[in-house]
Amino acid sequence: MAYTFKQTFLPASKYSIKAPYIMVPQYITVHNTANDAPAANEIDYMIGNNNQVSYHVAVDDKEVIQAIPFNRNAWHCGDGGGSTDSNALKKGNRISIGIEICYSKSGGVRYGVAEENAVQYISKLLKQFGWGIERVKKHQDWNGKYCPHRILVENRWDSFLKRISRAMTMNNHNELTEKDDDTMRFTNETLKAAVRDYLKQAVDKKLIDKSHLEKFDAGTLTDGDFKGLEIIIDQRSNK
Ligand SMILES: [Zn+2]
Repeated sequence: MAYTFKQTFLPASKYSIKAPYIMVPQYITVHNTANDAPAANEIDYMIGNNNQVSYHVAVDDKEVIQAIPFNRNAWHCGDGGGSTDSNALKKGNRISIGIEICYSKSGGVRYGVAEENAVQYISKLLKQFGWGIERVKKHQDWNGKYCPHRILVENRWDSFLKRISRAMTMNNHNELTEKDDDTMRFTNETLKAAVRDYLKQAVDKKLIDKSHLEKFDAGTLTDGDFKGLEIIIDQRSNK
């Protein structure tokens, strides 16, 4: 991973100004800061002032910093969504996670790295929420503002989305090759011993072949194998 993920949370005492509503996030909204400050400074500034301006995450060439939990709204889309807005729950301010990409004012290499970090981070978020690429919006989609300005002026929004999609595919692939398969992994020795005992008893009762226990001991039994064995053991032990 090219970036460090950090959390520098907005104090709850400022929720009433900057994150007043609980939220079920449905979209990710991408912004450019139109500034040349690093993520830590952007976040400090956002947390420090008392304006109704806020966002969840800032990304630069080194860090991804989250400031607002994803179950609270933030004011970053300029599309209303306050208490007098009858369509509040269709507004980006109320249903989207705001992500600011830093260094967009001058651009250059550090902006390029920040943007790539955003691509990687957004792909992870999408996966975490079980979402597809259609959940990624630009600020402009909500209220027409020309943001993320650098991606728009360089006419790269579609390629930005394609990079996120590709990153999602790559991440899937990396996970598969890292783990290689879905062999059973235990973080807890007690659980591992209990599963082994369960299989051993089934072998002793001749409900399953001993090759399954041998696979378990060799670390090659998969989660899928085990689920199948559970069904077989259940069926045969009820006979
Ligand atoms: Zn914006």
